[in-house]
Amino acid sequence: MSDGARQPAYTIIGAGPVGALMGLMLARRGHSVRLIERRADPRRTPAQRGRSINLALAARGLAAIEHAGLAARVAPGLTAMPGRMLHDENGALQFLPYGRNEHEVIYAISRERLNRLLVEAAAEHPRIELRFNTRCVALDPHAGSMQLRDEHAGSSSSAPFQLLLAADGAGSAVRAALAADGLARVDEQPLAHDYKELAIAATDSGGNGSDRTGGHGTGGYVFEPHALHIWPRGGFMLIALPNTDGSFTATLFLPRHGSHGFDRLAHDSDVRAFFAQQFADAAAAIPDLAQQFAQHPQSQLGTVYCDGWQAAGRVLLLGDAAHAIVPFHGQGLNCGFEDCRLLDTLLAAGSSPADVLSGFERRRRPDTDAIAAMALENYVEMRDSVRSAPFAARRRLAAELEQAFPGRFIPRYSMVMFHPEIAYAQAQRRGAQQELVLDRLVEQHGYGALQPAALAYVRELLDAAGL
Ligand SMILES: Cc1cc2nc3c(=O)[nH]c(=O)nc-3n(C[C@H](O)[C@H](O)[C@H](O)COP(=O)(O)OP(=O)(O)OC[C@H]3O[C@@H](n4cnc5c(N)ncnc54)[C@H](O)[C@@H]3O)c2cc1C
Repeated sequence: MSDGARQPAYTIIGAGPVGALMGLMLARRGHSVRLIERRADPRRTPAQRGRSINLALAARGLAAIEHAGLAARVAPGLTAMPGRMLHDENGALQFLPYGRNEHEVIYAISRERLNRLLVEAAAEHPRIELRFNTRCVALDPHAGSMQLRDEHAGSSSSAPFQLLLAADGAGSAVRAALAADGLARVDEQPLAHDYKELAIAATDSGGNGSDRTGGHGTGGYVFEPHALHIWPRGGFMLIALPNTDGSFTATLFLPRHGSHGFDRLAHDSDVRAFFAQQFADAAAAIPDLAQQFAQHPQSQLGTVYCDGWQAAGRVLLLGDAAHAIVPFHGQGLNCGFEDCRLLDTLLAAGSSPADVLSGFERRRRPDTDAIAAMALENYVEMRDSVRSAPFAARRRLAAELEQAFPGRFIPRYSMVMFHPEIAYAQAQRRGAQQELVLDRLVEQHGYGALQPAALAYVRELLDAAGL
């Protein structure tokens, strides 16, 4: 395909995970797709260190991968995490399962591996044309034209498009262009906390549980591999996700300023002392801690709220470009993949693409607003609430209620992570109703084991709430 007469049906800006997956879904339906990516081809470049090395995939993301026919390709890169492993200040460990049964599991995957395999699948598809080192710098939705810059040569050119999907991430250039033309209104809410990634290397020997990784590891794990590790410390936290090679990627979340802020960690000695005091077991597993801390970037987090995801019925923002969120529910990419599945399903249902693109935000926005809010709330849960006795008691009661009232009472975390059939907005609404049920139950019957009278009371409450 060349610019001009033989334009592809769809141009996608950004061959990140959302852009590549969307392109594959469209190509499977018989559409021609051009994927334009500012970076170099990930099949030929090593991963960048220090920027969100791995992430958690849950049911929504996996459902989209399955919808695109890619489940078998992705599966070997997944490491199951059936629960959280809490590390307290003294190094004591407590495992909290995420769900009730063995299917209620989330999976760690390398971001670079996931992106590379999606790009590989796209490259194999005859209807997809890939262009790397090409940045979209401007566009005119009404005229259906965009400005591209060749990142190597530095030259610019104009190119036409029929329909354009912008999957160019949280700092979307397309979103900025729509906003500059008054077609979108953007509200970026930065978090006062930043993050920094640190690598925990595999051990030379067998390590911890290295026999349980499906045989794809090369080293031993210093911590249990089948868990999302959390060092919750109230106002801040460290987390770590397993990689398939025996290593972990840890992420430190701290306020930018203040007594436990990044600004207090200017010197190697400050970093070592802070880790020795707060995360001694993690510090012992990172011999080059101070060096990594100095070299890895301190990155910002935030939520992007955008009104006006589409323009002229031919441009649509998708994934982080439309609705970037903070990472504390592990749902940003899952949500972006769910966008792809929904859009593909709507386009396949037969309405005109212009109608589908125009109506997509109205349909999807309540859900992306809901997950944005729940992701912010989950930061408090991860770094703080998980440590409290009432939180543990409520979690236990919620699990018992789920058992007693299957399908009627489902903990909110489970609805978000394991039930893609329940939309985010519905999970948020039902979650709030269930919290009130729990409040009333605890008021009347305390935190004890659920007796028949307590169960009868909950049934009444659920009936009254329409649950
Ligand atoms: C610390 C951290 C942890 C996270 N953990 C999780 C997690 O556990 N689970 C989860 O689901 N989500 C997680 N997320 C969120 C997840 O990373 C994002 O939601 C996801 O990457 C969004 O995918 P995307 O394809 O929309 O955007 P991106 O991944 O940002 O991809 C955008 C692509 O567009 C390209 N691009 C950008 N501008 C242009 C341009 N002008 N022209 C051409 N190409 C362009 C970029 O190079 C890139 O390849 C995490 C995020 C962070 C920061």
